[in-house]
Amino acid sequence: MRGMKMTTENQTFTEKFDLLGCIQCGRCTGGCPVTVRTNLNVRRFVYDAYNEDLLEELSRVADIWDCTACHTCAVRCPKGLKPLEVLIGLRSLVVESGKTEPTVRDALESTFMEGNPWNKPRATRNDWMEGLDVIVAEPEQKVENLFFVCCTIAYDPRVQVTARNIVNLLNKAGVDYAFLGTDETCCGSEIFTLGEDGLFEMLIEDNTEMLNEYQADRIVALSPHCFTTFNTHYPDLNKPVIHYTQLLAELLEQKKLAFKDGLEKKIVYHDPCYLGKQSGVFEEPRSVLKAIEGVELVEFGRNRERSLCCEGGGGKMWVESESKIERLAETRVKDARALEADIIAAACPFCVLTLDDAVKAEGFEEEMRVAEIMEILGELEVMQEKPSSAQEVED
Ligand code: SF4
Ligand code: SF4
Repeated sequence: MRGMKMTTENQTFTEKFDLLGCIQCGRCTGGCPVTVRTNLNVRRFVYDAYNEDLLEELSRVADIWDCTACHTCAVRCPKGLKPLEVLIGLRSLVVESGKTEPTVRDALESTFMEGNPWNKPRATRNDWMEGLDVIVAEPEQKVENLFFVCCTIAYDPRVQVTARNIVNLLNKAGVDYAFLGTDETCCGSEIFTLGEDGLFEMLIEDNTEMLNEYQADRIVALSPHCFTTFNTHYPDLNKPVIHYTQLLAELLEQKKLAFKDGLEKKIVYHDPCYLGKQSGVFEEPRSVLKAIEGVELVEFGRNRERSLCCEGGGGKMWVESESKIERLAETRVKDARALEADIIAAACPFCVLTLDDAVKAEGFEEEMRVAEIMEILGELEVMQEKPSSAQEVED
């Protein structure tokens, strides 16, 4: 066998990524959203990587860092391959060689030392809770819903609102919940896509051990990245993981939650790649928005499985693509403007950050805004503790 480049699992690159299964149909590159603004040709990488003598050379091609891990190529591949993982495998070779960008190196080091990629101290992970009445879990405490916040939501002031507003909602709706607090450590979503296999394995092992100790019925993730990573890469977790929009949809369905206020706004929902095309959660976020009286929910032409990536994933928060062509998030906000939407609703911290920037870049701040679903619900101000029908049933 040529080259015999072994991966950490003692498989060759060709075996690990099933490169012989590729029929070079090109559907992966045909669907790849970043090809409109970069030179990335994922089909070509799948083809070239079969020659294992070329791997080091391929790992030096800057295009491997353009992938946003949106998974469109995997969804479209008729042979069930994950072409993006070939690019991640090549990134791993760069990480192994120690020749990563300083921004990537800092994110990896910060995750190793502090449990988050944002260079923030672990001890301040709970700062977002300030002034709130939050239940922080003890491992032996029995709880129905154990919340996993996410590094970005915990530390980035723009998106902390997701966690803060859900605490208020949970308290008002009388939900049995607890948050992990400073026990929480990065799920490793971006560490995986940046190619740091060893650190990712360590996070999986440590997080699995920590989460399995908690006497919780299920884990509720606030970010689609944590949600998908747990469900995809944590085979030994002893409890199911759901996304918070699934919990809200369930509470609404069971009439344990209702929104008293209405909102006369036209809202377009942006399916995050990790929640939608990667995990198949399309309806719950929509059903939450539809439960708000007065909301007119409209759809992007490219919605659900075809949703346009915002370019926030795949480690792109730490690696900039060299391109003068408009960002996909800018295309997205132009599409929303054409729909005359007042609000682009998102359910992912990276989508909020990238779309927010795009609204500013396009100068649309007067006409529209980007809001996480919890941000919208928080602004309704009144979330009935329990609707009278549910009260009667309980009585
Ligand atoms: S879509 Fe799948 S089979 Fe087709 S070229 Fe891409 S990786 Fe190969
Ligand atoms: S994951 Fe998305 S950005 Fe990356 S190669 Fe596949 S389609 Fe392109």
